[in-house]
Amino acid sequence: MIISIDGAAGTGKTTVGKIVANKLNYQFLDSGKIYRAYTLKMIKNNIFDTKNIIGQLSSTKIKYIYKNNKEILDLDGIDVSNNLHSDLVDKHVSEVSRIPEIRLKMTNLQRNIVKKNFIVVGRDIGSVVLPNAELKIFLTASIKERAKRRFNERKNENLDEIENSIKKRDLIDSTRKVAPLTIPEKAFVIDTENKNIDTVCKEIIKMAK
Ligand code: C5P
Repeated sequence: MIISIDGAAGTGKTTVGKIVANKLNYQFLDSGKIYRAYTLKMIKNNIFDTKNIIGQLSSTKIKYIYKNNKEILDLDGIDVSNNLHSDLVDKHVSEVSRIPEIRLKMTNLQRNIVKKNFIVVGRDIGSVVLPNAELKIFLTASIKERAKRRFNERKNENLDEIENSIKKRDLIDSTRKVAPLTIPEKAFVIDTENKNIDTVCKEIIKMAK
């Protein structure tokens, strides 16, 4: 079975997805990390215009490995797994991800990674990348709650700045022309606002079973 978990930043997709994958003995793919890896390359090379962002596609190799409950992102032969969640990547990732050519390549990459028994998290998994997923979940929470969660993860940043950064990403991700953030058809919506991680995981596992 394939399970998709979509939702905006800070809704708990990755945390919940990993726990559920572990409990069900499934593989796990966080598609956001793929977009983040490509964005990291653009930042490192100072490339911020659409034409040149697209121009880097043919010379970029992204590999995703999931082993012992750990995700490894290999960008052009270098393990960048620990460099993907900086505020700089947060700042640029949605602008890179909105480009249709980038999405096409990353969507194909994801489809090649996903075999059976996978949990895949992202923005467009149930709607575009894997529309035949047997179970589709869409997580929600208020912007205040999501900013608070991110703040607790990355103590060094400012709460208001985090909230603004998430708002900007939400706007770009949900209004882009290709594969915007949306509730997929037949998805079960779980409002995670006042629920702890364990409760959300149990709900998903119950549905999966
Ligand atoms: O999930 P995460 O916050 O790591 O995703 C980072 C960004 O990658 C999102 O804000 C979005 O712009 C992009 N993304 C996407 N489609 C996905 C997953 C992530 O466009 N399936």
